[in-house]
Amino acid sequence: MTSARTRARMVERLRTKGIRDERVLNALGTVPRHVFLEEALASRAYEDDALPIGFGQTISHPFVVARMIEAVVGSPAGKALEVGTGCGYQAAVMANVFPEVYSIERIKELHERARRNLLALRLANLRLAYGDGYKGLERAAPFHSIVVAAAAARVPEALVSQLAAGGKMILPLAANSGEQRLVLIERSGRGLKESELDPVRFVPMEAGKA
Ligand code: SAH
Repeated sequence: MTSARTRARMVERLRTKGIRDERVLNALGTVPRHVFLEEALASRAYEDDALPIGFGQTISHPFVVARMIEAVVGSPAGKALEVGTGCGYQAAVMANVFPEVYSIERIKELHERARRNLLALRLANLRLAYGDGYKGLERAAPFHSIVVAAAAARVPEALVSQLAAGGKMILPLAANSGEQRLVLIERSGRGLKESELDPVRFVPMEAGKA
């Protein structure tokens, strides 16, 4: 089967699981996930699963990618930040949804590999940064949408301060028990509103060296 057809099936499964935003579904139907994986794993690229990308890290589930982006995209979509580029898959999906996307990664080798993976996709509106996601990306702030792809124990302050008025951020938060939940943070005129969504499993957010 061609990758376009397996992707179309994946998008149908995402619809069945409740993803509604056509911009998000289109983006997941467009980005070839197999180019972000090593050859030995590429045949499993369209299974709804997290797969290893080296350095103890994983590529996110397509459903979780869709769910997180859908939760923070406004209408119209604005400037977005991803924390935890990893192999670059979610960054590529985001670049098909938002007009301007920044993605930050703390492991140099992964940052460089993501750059190589993304070359062929020619996404002129995506910029990769090497650094500590706990600090966000001050030079490009504020962001209308922030997606964090690694689990922290508490909400990073810098990220909240880089959230635009009316903006939304989604991140996995880890409790002491080790359980994780997606948390949605919205900045409105009246301040910050926090709500809890699905239980998830992400790799931990590490203190950055960069
Ligand atoms: N977004 C990826 C998934 C990446 S896994 C995808 O599309 O599949 C999470 C990534 O977050 C890892 O690459 C890890 O190195 C990175 N990470 C962890 N802590 C970080 C931090 N403080 N700053 C930036 N990146 C971080």
